[in-house]
This record gives sequence, C-alpha cells and structure tokens, in this order.
Amino acid sequence: MLGLWTMAEGGTPPAPIPAATKREAVSVRLPGAAFAAMETINPEHIRWHVRFLSHDLLEGRGTGQRGGDLAAEYIATQFAEYGLKPAGDNGSYLQKVPLVGITTLPETKFSLTPKQGAAMNLKPLDEYVAYDQTQQAQSDVDAEIIYVGYGIEAPEYNWDDYKGADVRGKVLLMLVNEPPSDDPKFFKGKALTYYGRWTYKFEEAARKGAVGVILIHREDMASYPWEVVRNSNSGEKSYLKVEGPLLKVASWVQLDVARKLAADSGMDLEKMIADARTREFHPVNLGTKLKAHMVSNVRHFESNNVVAMLPGSDRNLKEEAVMYTAHYDHFGIRPDMPGDNIFNGAADNATGCGILLELARAFSVAKDRPGRSIIFAAVTAEEQGLLGSEYLGKHPPVPAGKIALDLNYDDVQPFGAPEEVEVSGAERTTFYPWVQAMAKEFRLAIRPDARPEAGHFYRSDHFSLARVGIPAFSINEGMKFKGHDEAWGLAQDKEYTEKRYHQPGDEYRPEMDFVGDSAMARFGFALGWEAASFTRLIGWQKGDEFEAARIKSQ
Ligand SMILES: [Zn+2]
Repeated sequence: MLGLWTMAEGGTPPAPIPAATKREAVSVRLPGAAFAAMETINPEHIRWHVRFLSHDLLEGRGTGQRGGDLAAEYIATQFAEYGLKPAGDNGSYLQKVPLVGITTLPETKFSLTPKQGAAMNLKPLDEYVAYDQTQQAQSDVDAEIIYVGYGIEAPEYNWDDYKGADVRGKVLLMLVNEPPSDDPKFFKGKALTYYGRWTYKFEEAARKGAVGVILIHREDMASYPWEVVRNSNSGEKSYLKVEGPLLKVASWVQLDVARKLAADSGMDLEKMIADARTREFHPVNLGTKLKAHMVSNVRHFESNNVVAMLPGSDRNLKEEAVMYTAHYDHFGIRPDMPGDNIFNGAADNATGCGILLELARAFSVAKDRPGRSIIFAAVTAEEQGLLGSEYLGKHPPVPAGKIALDLNYDDVQPFGAPEEVEVSGAERTTFYPWVQAMAKEFRLAIRPDARPEAGHFYRSDHFSLARVGIPAFSINEGMKFKGHDEAWGLAQDKEYTEKRYHQPGDEYRPEMDFVGDSAMARFGFALGWEAASFTRLIGWQKGDEFEAARIKSQ
C-alpha cells in the first residue's frame, strides 16, 4: 500500500523520527530491549493508521455499521501481522458485543398523580425524558415516588441516603451530582466522583430493586442546561444486552416539574434539596405516584471489540497482564444531514487506534518480553456510552484481578511535540510515583485536570476498567507544545472543540503532526513495560472509590 502514498494526493512520505522526539540513547528505567523497541515507535506509522481509519470509505466507523466493522477487521489484520495471539471469541481477534438500541416512542405516557388534585401529564422532551432499560417493547409502572436525596450509598464517605429503606417496586426521585463540599476527604471535595454521575444513580436504584428513577435537573447541579439532557435523551440509545437489574423508567424531569411535584405532594423543593445535604437525611415517601406506560422500539444488533495478546515471558507472571485500550468507533454517517455527513473521527479516535497499533507493533518487535502478558484492545461503542469497554471489563481475556494496569488513549491531538502529559486518575493508584519518575525522564510536566468537577475521568473507556477494579487511566497531551506558549495550545483545543469535535469536520489533513501522538505512545510503552515487570500488582490508593472493586476481584 505504500506505493499509493504519493505526494500527488497530498500525503507526506514516511519520514525518519524527527530529532525533537529523540531522547538520550539510554534509559535509566528500561532494559535495553525495551528501550530499543520503544525507539522504533514512529509518528508516520500512526499517521498511516489515522489516515486510513478516518477515510471517507470507512463511513465514520459507526457502531454496528459496515464502516465500524471494516475498521475492526483492519485492526485485527494488523494484530495478526504483528504475530500477536488472538484474545477474542473462539480463537479470533473479535469479541462479540451484544447491543440493544432503544427508542422511546410517542405513544409513551408519563404522569405524576398526587393523592389529591389533578394528575400532571408530562410533555416528552420539554418536561421529561425517559427510557425503558429493560429492553421490552412495553412496560407499565404504577408506583409510589420516594425522594432519596442524592441517591448515594458510599460507605467510604460514611454517607447513605437510603438508610436501609425498602425501595423495591418504587420510583425514586433524586438529585444529580453529590453533596457539595470543599473537603478533599469528602467525595473528593470539588471533584466529581462516580457517585455524582447520573449513570451511578440509575445503577444503584436498579440494584436496590427500584422500578424507576426520576432525576431532577437543575442546571447548576448538572453543570449543563436542559437542552443537553434533552438532546442526549432523544432518538435511539444503545445499551449492552441485559445482564443485570435495570429500570423500567430511567428519566429526568425539568426543574419546574420537580417544583410542582413537590408542591402537589405538600412539600417544598428548596427545602428538600437543603435537607439532602446532611448525613441525617432519610428517604421521604411523597405519596404521589408515577404512572407510566413505556412504549419502545427495541433493535438488537452487535459489534465487536478487537483483542490481541502478547504472552509474557515469566512462567508465573504471564497469567497476569497489562492492558492498552482505545475506542475505534465513531458516529458513522447521518443520512438526514445535508452536505458532508460522514463523521470521520480522525482525532476522535483514529489517533488512539494509531497509537494502540503502534504500541502493539513495537512490543511485538522487542527482542525480550516483560514478565506479564500485554493485552491490546480496540473497543467499540464508546460514543454510545462506553459500552464496548464495559463489556470488555465484564468479560476480560484475563481475570480483572490479574490485570495490573489499563492505559487508555482517546483523542490525542496531532498538534506537535508536547511538553506536558495528562494522566488524570494516575494519582489515585499505587503506580503514581513511577508515573512521575517516568514523566520526568521524558521531560514531560504532569498537567493536572483543569476541571475535576466536570468528571472527565468517568467519560472515557479507562473508567469501564476502573469500575471492575483495574487501576486505569488515560494518557494524553497537555496544552503546552514545543515552540508555542500555553495560550496557543488552549486556542488549538478550543478551535477543535468548537469546529470539529463530534462533527463531520474531524477529518484527516496532511499537515497534521503526529510527533505528539508518538511521544504519548512512547511514554505509555515505557509505563506499560514497567507495570508488566513489577513483582507485585498495582492497586488503587487506600480509600479510593475503586479500591473495594479491586479487593473483590482478587
Ligand atoms: Zn468522542
């Protein structure tokens, strides 16, 4: 295929590694074979993968669509060429991920019925949004509404909104986010923990046997306006095929609706919100009922994770592994959209796939191998809600308790040579001192998460692995690039977010500079090699929200 790569089509011919990414010829941290393999990591290799994966012919790599399946086959083919062992289903590289697409149909009815007074029949999208997670064509709910404050049970913070109340068969009304605090020991202060995410609230309620949840949307607490709730809860939503308890009604209501619901139940919403901020809070039965008739279109489909393994060299340690992940899916084609309607996803996340493939290639050419095995997983359906990685976390090729570390790559911008690295979440693991030392050796300053309250840690695939206990974080560039000040990096980032992020404009351009992607690959290579060679497995810090899952898995 190299012959097709001509200057005439605007491409850049493969170039030697630019001097800017060359470091001193030895590493104090890595053995010689590892260092030599790492030095083969080449930004132009990453470019080729990005160019192909984001080509119009790949049709935006939609989950369950032809373009997505082509991307998966491409990645599997590369793994095979590198001589890696298949780690998917039945001796193949593909791990089937069963998915269900659910669309709430207009026949759905949703009404709040107080003990006295008239029922409120809510208007879809303007006043409420709801999905039936049970994946049935029709479900009916006629149940009392219990207010449970934030809907959080977090023993490590000595917080329990449920207080043992029996909520089986009930509908739970709750607030988004978590109790406000600046104390870093209490729900990590200003930073959002998983307890604050709406996904946790739905999951916890389902685990406790509730049939429905109504989340109260308040803009300042959600940190986004109702339009975001509305847009992300209209049309088809994808789920993994049912594996555990799920809600018949997973819904949000608009703040004014919540206010009226409280008033009709003889209560005051502001006081309810204030009451929820204390440990003494107890669930309150509103006496009002939710009567919902959910009508859904249920579409079964499937997609694949692409998983390969490089067996470790140590007789005992090779049963354990270090994992690398990057999602390959994007949004596909929107047929109803005029003009360019292909969501190429060059940055998001052909870049991560290019890095993953280059890492796989570099490990496969190493003259020596680390003790633990290395797993390479290109996951699907990230844009649908981290579904491919969730499936991988629940069905890992090596038990989760034996996976030392997951390093994830998502949307690594081809802006040039970085002087910073972002590893948010790494500081929560016992591996952090090594991450710091390695960053120093790579002359990369660690850039802290600028907005921990936005909860970015919970919005990429490493999180799916963290929640089954695996120490996991993403590696990305910061904002400071060689030859530019920080303002330049921030401006590039802003321009991307406004003009290309999740838009058809996220396309490959020949002038893209993959030196930074290569630097992030090298950094991750070195960290992964180290984690795969330690005598002991990595863990989460004491008291971390994922520590319990880690202990349970081991
Ligand atoms: Zn994305």
